[in-house]
Amino acid sequence: MTAASRSPSGASTSEASQRSRLVLGNWKMHGNLAENAALLEALRTGAAQPLTAEIGVCVPFPYLAQAQSALQGSPISWGAQDLSTQEKGAYTGEVAGAMLADFGCRWVLVGHSERRSLHGETDALVADKAKAALAAGLTPVVCVGETLDEREAGSTLAVIERQLGPVLALGAPAVGRMVLAYEPVWAIGTGRTATPEQAQEVHAAIRQALRQLGAEQVQVLYGGSVKAASAASLFAMPDIDGGLVGGASLVAEEFLRIAAA
Ligand code: PEP
Repeated sequence: MTAASRSPSGASTSEASQRSRLVLGNWKMHGNLAENAALLEALRTGAAQPLTAEIGVCVPFPYLAQAQSALQGSPISWGAQDLSTQEKGAYTGEVAGAMLADFGCRWVLVGHSERRSLHGETDALVADKAKAALAAGLTPVVCVGETLDEREAGSTLAVIERQLGPVLALGAPAVGRMVLAYEPVWAIGTGRTATPEQAQEVHAAIRQALRQLGAEQVQVLYGGSVKAASAASLFAMPDIDGGLVGGASLVAEEFLRIAAA
């Protein structure tokens, strides 16, 4: 143990205090030009007040230009929800990292549970996507999380370790430029949030793996039905550095209240 005190999880208070707060919205496949305009304007106005956390929104591909023009010059950053592993070529329907960078994206989600379950994305593919994002100058937000069956079988930490394996194998210089997000599948879009203690247990294990790699400063977000009412107690946990917010990010006031938590 160093001079810095350690929480029961092993997180040192100095480590935690060096990591800034980040709250990202995942709009999923929601929105239209008119609704987005109102939401983006409300976020921009709300972000005119000093923010305690950095905030960003990950929007559907067709609305990247809209997000860029609405948010440029504001403290709010934007990004996408997926990208191709490929740089360019005959990949119909795919979107390359460089295309996202063209629209000023800072973030790209990779390995969201909906991509894993609905599109069969494997742990290795997710790592390849994270690598492609870095190559395009984007920050990948790598999502991991167990299903309810896996939690009930007591295999949560083993699942997280397996999912993160190929990502951590990219090495500390790469991982140090990522953000990780723990999103228990059973909490996404269900209204059922992990308790702060349940979330912290997994975040502490992720932090330990990052520490072993020499990348302990990586921000680790929690996601899964985060609301303004639950955000403060989750974000008070020593290894939780902010949130990845789905449904609640579609309501400007709620999202800003989460970011203020
Ligand atoms: C998500 O989509 O990443 C998410 C956490 O959704 P929700 O907040 O709606 O559970």
